[in-house]
Amino acid sequence: TTPFLSLRDLHVHFATEDGTVKAVDGLSFSLPRGRTLGIVGESGSGKSVTSLAVLGLHDPRTTTTRGEILLDGEDITAAPESVLEKLRGNKMAMIFQDSLTALSPYYSVGRQIAEPFRKHTGVSRRDARLRAIEMLHRVGIPNPALRVDDYPHQFSGGMRQRAMIAMALVCDPELLIADEPTTALDVTVQAQILDLLKDLQQQTGSAIVLITHDLGVVSHTVDEVLVMYAGRAVERGTVREVLRDPQHPYTWGLLGSMPRLTSDVDRPLTPIPGTPPSLLAPPPGCPFHPRCAYTAEVGGDRCRSERPELPPGTGHGAACHLQGSRT
Ligand code: SF4
Ligand code: MG
Repeated sequence: TTPFLSLRDLHVHFATEDGTVKAVDGLSFSLPRGRTLGIVGESGSGKSVTSLAVLGLHDPRTTTTRGEILLDGEDITAAPESVLEKLRGNKMAMIFQDSLTALSPYYSVGRQIAEPFRKHTGVSRRDARLRAIEMLHRVGIPNPALRVDDYPHQFSGGMRQRAMIAMALVCDPELLIADEPTTALDVTVQAQILDLLKDLQQQTGSAIVLITHDLGVVSHTVDEVLVMYAGRAVERGTVREVLRDPQHPYTWGLLGSMPRLTSDVDRPLTPIPGTPPSLLAPPPGCPFHPRCAYTAEVGGDRCRSERPELPPGTGHGAACHLQGSRT
């Protein structure tokens, strides 16, 4: 099957006063319809920058985007704003981290859900309002006809998150990007929101990219995992492969202690010593080497001088010299 979304060697670089920030530096993946990809990494790993690039939301005056972003076979990497505007909210939509900033306090929830529907379909205000009520119902808001004219501040945090999902889904997007959609919510609501995304995907067959720093979140929700570090993919595989047989030392860190993986992946993220590197001047060789405990196993200076690449193809693999030296 042809992938619905595919990124080929994507680079997203920002021009800053201090130099070029290589926020995404050679990222490739593909995602078919009806499947969910989890992109996992610490903040600053390039996850959010990648999703904003897909939606074409970076400022072209300060951003250089190279490589290819293919949506349903069409290259949208350098698409003009007029084309992207027709795609956003329609064929592809995003659920943002924070519902308070995504929803305007000045308009009713129903109006904010109805507006993108009206814009992309041209239906009447009345029909768009009915659609908003239907969407509120679909995302599990009780008494939607009575709540549709409420303002965001009248909703609880979990309800606002649902309203934002309703807004993103109102045009039945074929690609949905959810950036940390649950971090601000308590665990029960988190689980409900993720279940909701899964249900909606079963109804519509959309492709979903779920961005998170928490491997526990993805373990129940995604099909494939891409672990990102310093703007690059360091490990890729099915969720089962990555959780059962993680290959990259950074993934080991994310999973906590290495051996006990199968039963207990829901534990909170274990901090990895050190901090992510500066993307203005990333370390030479493997970008993870300043934090890695396994450079001696690789031997010599290889980790500090030679950049490991993810094996080509789509199977399970890691960008780490340990992999080569073991086989
Ligand atoms: Fe660690 Fe070397 Fe593998 Fe990088 S290539 S993760 S430094 S062992
Ligand atoms: Mg982010």
